[in-house]
Amino acid sequence: MGKSEKVLQLCRENSIRMIDFKMVDLDGRWRHITIPLERFGDSIFTQGIGFDGSNYGYAPIEKSDMVFIPDPDSAVIDPFAEIPTLSMTGDVCVIGTDENRPFDQYPRNVALRAAEYMKQSGAADSMLIGPEFEFYLFDTVNYQVSPRGASYAVDTRQAEWNTGLADTGNLGYEVKHKGGYHIAAPQDISYNLRSKMCMLMEDWGIRVKYHHHEVGGPGQLEIEVELGEMVDMADKTMITKYIVKNAAAAEGRTATFMPKPVYQEAGSGMHVHMLLFKDGKPVFYDKDGYSSLSREAHYFIGGLLKHAPSLCAWTNPSTNSYKRLVPGFEAPVTIGYATSNRSAVIRIPAYAKTPELKRFELRSPDATANPYYAYAAILMAGLDGMEKQIDPQANGWGPYDYNLYELSPEQQARIRSLPKSLDEALDALEQDYDYLTKNGVFPERLIQIWLERKRKESRAISQVPHPAEFGAYYDL
Ligand code: GLN
Ligand code: MG
Ligand code: MG
Ligand code: MG
Repeated sequence: MGKSEKVLQLCRENSIRMIDFKMVDLDGRWRHITIPLERFGDSIFTQGIGFDGSNYGYAPIEKSDMVFIPDPDSAVIDPFAEIPTLSMTGDVCVIGTDENRPFDQYPRNVALRAAEYMKQSGAADSMLIGPEFEFYLFDTVNYQVSPRGASYAVDTRQAEWNTGLADTGNLGYEVKHKGGYHIAAPQDISYNLRSKMCMLMEDWGIRVKYHHHEVGGPGQLEIEVELGEMVDMADKTMITKYIVKNAAAAEGRTATFMPKPVYQEAGSGMHVHMLLFKDGKPVFYDKDGYSSLSREAHYFIGGLLKHAPSLCAWTNPSTNSYKRLVPGFEAPVTIGYATSNRSAVIRIPAYAKTPELKRFELRSPDATANPYYAYAAILMAGLDGMEKQIDPQANGWGPYDYNLYELSPEQQARIRSLPKSLDEALDALEQDYDYLTKNGVFPERLIQIWLERKRKESRAISQVPHPAEFGAYYDL
């Protein structure tokens, strides 16, 4: 069956009227363009759909024409479209005189090249990852943007809650402050909405592991998914965020993956579990190693820890990311590894014991990351550790089996910390990116564009008078 025939058959079976094409922009947002079914035909797969790449962050205005080529295998019914609509993702190409060529900075292409690099290097055939999605759900009415550009709560209850100081007495089955972890109904008021989100994820081909209320409260939630191949999981990260945000919006609520939306409450991370397979065998398992991890796993960890600061420029690319990476909220602040230790940037889960599940999680990432760049960068950092045999223990990066939030000044001096701001992460990336550009996995040009764009973003945000500055300085 030809490409368009396959799609047309799906359209007939589901009375489809519109076809929607979804593309990822540089920051990791989905953008889309929709055509009536009547305009759909073979030429879409050869000529593609033209669009303005400058608005996606990909091209300067004087060279902004790009084309999108859909992938028929990605076709799925968009559950949020009122008019029956088939949705497709695909590839983005730059226009050549003779033929179009895949755009080397397109996030999905970067992730595909990282996976290819892993195979060629002989380290492994596949990397399985499992991201954990934490997010907050707010009532739409409680949020507005102030004339100064700062977002703050207007509902009194939420405003008090935002200061982290007041306790309202909990008269209405509210989740206790910082007491929401796995809390049951009726406090868990978004229980049904989360189940709805997870059903939609299953229908879209994402295997959900479980969902629950998180520590932050009220309204911090989490959905975890089963492990899957890295590029596929980047696609599924996009789909998950789309489903979560749209299912919330359909109920007049708003979901945010912003890493630290509320002062003094838990932030939202996107921990990434990972393991490698080669010739069908798990690479990370050795029953005699520390925490049953193999030498290779240790080297992979060594690579992640060595490059942890520059990695943050991809895994934590917002100014808000660094308001989450502070002590006391189960987010990591120090660069080290350990078993069962949620204050270290790499935690080896004690409960994942079998060879096929033996893994560790990187706890720094948050969902403001472009998942394709973030997962690709993580893989390249780990592979660099394997190539260079970077031993995390010999480097003094762990295992740290104690609370890293409570260090003496002497310990603090010996232990490396994660960047404290986006600017620090960008400084690190500027100094340390050779592990990313191997075999052109990350084009040098992309790194420069990213640095420029993110520096600009950081500068602009730092110039906005902050609500906390009014508290500190207004009366001086
Ligand atoms: N919310 C925490 C973070 O920011 C994680 C808490 C948890 O999963 N137990 O990473
Ligand atoms: Mg979790
Ligand atoms: Mg969690
Ligand atoms: Mg976790």
